Amino acid sequence: MNIVDLYRIGEPIISFEFFPPKTDRGYQSLYKTIADLEALQPGFVSVTMGAGGSSSARSHNVDLVIRIQRELRLTSVAHLPCMGFSQGEIANILDTLGQAGVRNILALRGDPPRETPDFQHPEDGFNFANELTSFIARRGGFSIAGACYPEVHPDASNAEADLVNLKRKVDAGAEFLITQLFFDNQKFFDFEKRVRGAGIEVPIIPGIMPITSVAGIRRMTSLGGSSIPRELEKELAGVESNPEATLEVGIAWATLQCRELIQKGVAGIHFFTLNRSPATRRIHNALEEMGLLG
Ligand code: FAD
Repeated sequence: MNIVDLYRIGEPIISFEFFPPKTDRGYQSLYKTIADLEALQPGFVSVTMGAGGSSSARSHNVDLVIRIQRELRLTSVAHLPCMGFSQGEIANILDTLGQAGVRNILALRGDPPRETPDFQHPEDGFNFANELTSFIARRGGFSIAGACYPEVHPDASNAEADLVNLKRKVDAGAEFLITQLFFDNQKFFDFEKRVRGAGIEVPIIPGIMPITSVAGIRRMTSLGGSSIPRELEKELAGVESNPEATLEVGIAWATLQCRELIQKGVAGIHFFTLNRSPATRRIHNALEEMGLLG
C-alpha cells in the first residue's frame, strides 16, 4: 500500500526519522533503536541524506535505506536532497533504490553544506525541490513526499511566496508533506488552514522532535524555520544543566503536542528521533494509554 493511502485509513500513522551514523558504533546503536521502535509498528521509517555528500557517504546512505526495507521489513522512505547532485547522480540513486524495491522518496532541495565554503552545485543540478519532484515523477516508480514549513522557510521572502512554492511542489507530484519541527501547535493549525486555502489537499504530517538537549535545540532553531514558545523556553531554562530533567520536559511537551494534534485529526505524526528510542517510545506509550493510538 502507498504511504499516502495509509494516511487515508483514518487511524493516525506513526513514522520515525533516522540519520545515517558516521561510525560502526553509531550503526550498532541505530539498529538497536530501530529494533526498539519496530515494535511500535510504524507506517514507515525515513532516512536523511546530507546534501552534496561524498559518493561513499551517499552509498552508505542508500545501503541503510535498502537494509531497513529488506532485512527489517519496514517500509523505507529515502530522503533525497538535490543540492550538490547532478541529474546523473540523482538518476543513479533512484535506479539503485528502485532496483532494491524502495518505492518512497522525500524529495528535498537541501542546503549547501556549511562546512564546505567552496561548495559548488553542478550546473545541470536542480535548484528547488519542485524541479526534483517533477524529475522523479516523470521517471515514475516512486511515491513522492515533500517538506513544508509552518513557520515559513527561512529563505522565503514571505509566507505567501513560500505557499506558492509549496503548491508548485505538490503540483509537480508530492503526494504528502512532512513539516519542519515546531513546538507551537497553533502555528501548525494556522499553516494548515492557509495551505488548504491555497488549494493544496494532500496530507500534511506534523514533524515532532522531543527535545533531549537544550543546547542542541537552541542550535537547531537558531537556523530559522522554527521557534521555541516563551513558555517552553522558560521550562527549558530551568533544566538546562540537567539532562534527565530536560528529557522529561521534552517528553511532556511533545506528548501534549501530539495529543492535541491527534485529537484535532492529523493523519499521522512523524518523529525526528535523533536515532534514539526512549523519548519516542514514552510518548507513543502515553498516547496509547490515552486511547489515541490503535
Ligand atoms: P524547496 O521546496 O525547494 O524550498 C526552498 C526555498 O526555496 C523555500 O524558501 C521556497 O519558498 C523557495 N522555493 C521553492 N521552490 C522555488 C522556486 N521554484 N522558485 C523560487 N523559490 C522557490 N535536508 C537535507 O539536506 N537532508 C535531509 O534528509 C533533510 N530532511 C528533511 C526532512 C524534513 C521533514 C524537513 C522539513 C526538512 C529536511 N531537510 C533535509 C531540510 C531541507 O532540505 C531544507 O530545509 C532546505 O532548505 C529546503 O528544502 P525543501 O525541499 O523544502 O526546498
